[in-house]
Amino acid sequence: MTPAQNPAFRTCPTCRRLIAQGEDCTTLACVNQAKFAPALDHARTKRDRLEAQRQLLRDRTDRLFPNIAKAAGQNPDDIPATTVPSCNPEFAPRNTDRERVMARRLMDLIDEVFDPATAEDEERMARFRALADEQEVQKKPEIPAIAASCIACQGACCRQGMSMQAFISVETIAVYRLLNPGCTPSEILTAYLSRLPQEAVVNSCLFHGVEGCTLPREMRSQTCNSFECGDRRSLWEQFEKLGRDDHAVTISVKGYPNDFTEASPLEGRIVEVDPQRGITITRIEYRPDLRD
Ligand code: SF4
Ligand code: SF4
Ligand SMILES: [Zn+2]
Repeated sequence: MTPAQNPAFRTCPTCRRLIAQGEDCTTLACVNQAKFAPALDHARTKRDRLEAQRQLLRDRTDRLFPNIAKAAGQNPDDIPATTVPSCNPEFAPRNTDRERVMARRLMDLIDEVFDPATAEDEERMARFRALADEQEVQKKPEIPAIAASCIACQGACCRQGMSMQAFISVETIAVYRLLNPGCTPSEILTAYLSRLPQEAVVNSCLFHGVEGCTLPREMRSQTCNSFECGDRRSLWEQFEKLGRDDHAVTISVKGYPNDFTEASPLEGRIVEVDPQRGITITRIEYRPDLRD
C-alpha cells in the first residue's frame, strides 16, 4: 500500500502534502491561510457587496443617461456619462483650533524646506525640481467635460484631506518655493493661510470651501493634483473611445458607493456640459421625468 492509499493519511487540499487524518497541515503557507481565511472572507464579502451596490446604481443611472442626452438633443451613444459620489456638503464658519494645527504643520514644513541641510541634499533637490517641472506641465486648464464629474460630486475625495492636513507635505512647499523664487518663509505661510475659506465643508479638508478647493493648483499637494477617482477616470476612457471631449453627463448620488441600497432615493445632481449651452447643473429630484 502506498502512503496515499493508507486510510490513516489524507492529502492537504491546499499544498497536496500527505498529513495524518484528523491533524491540521503544518506547512507555513497552510497555517497562514487558516489564520487569515476569516479576514480574507470578510474582505471578499465586503468587496462583493460593494460591487453589487455599484452595479445596482449603475443599472438605475444607465437608464437616466439616455433621457438626459435626448433632452439635450444628443445621441445617447455619443455622450460620455458617469456616476460619481456626492460630497453632500454642509458648511460651517472657520474652525480656529483646526486652523492653528494647520499653521503649525505649515511652519514645520517651511522650516524644513528652508533648512540649509535640505538645499545641500542634491538628490532631494533634484526630486523637488522634477516635481516642480511636472506641476508646470500639468498647468493646462481642465477640460470642462472632465471637471463635470467633480462639479457634480463637490469633492467627496477632499474629505480625506481632513485627517491628512490637505495632503500638504515638504514636497508641496518645496515645489511652491521653486515656482516662486524669492518667497520668504513668512510669505509662504501667509499665502497658504490667506486661502483658508470663510466657510468650509464640515468634516473635510480645511481648504474645501463653498466653491470647491480654495488653493490654486500650484499650492496643492502632489496627491491633490494627481488624484482621480475611478468614476472620473471612466470619463477619460469614454472620451478616448468616442474621440470627443466636448460633452459629458455626470450624476452624483447621495450615499454612492458605500451606502447605496435598493431603497435609496436617487437624490443628487446632474451636471451636463455642452459647448453651446455651457454647464448646466440640475438637482435630480426636480426632474421627475428622468426618474427611473
Ligand atoms: S475625483 Fe472623484 S471623488 Fe474626487 S471630487 Fe472628483 S468625482 Fe468626486
Ligand atoms: S487641498 Fe483642495 S483638493 Fe486637496 S483635499 Fe483640500 S480641498 Fe481637496
Ligand atoms: Zn498543506
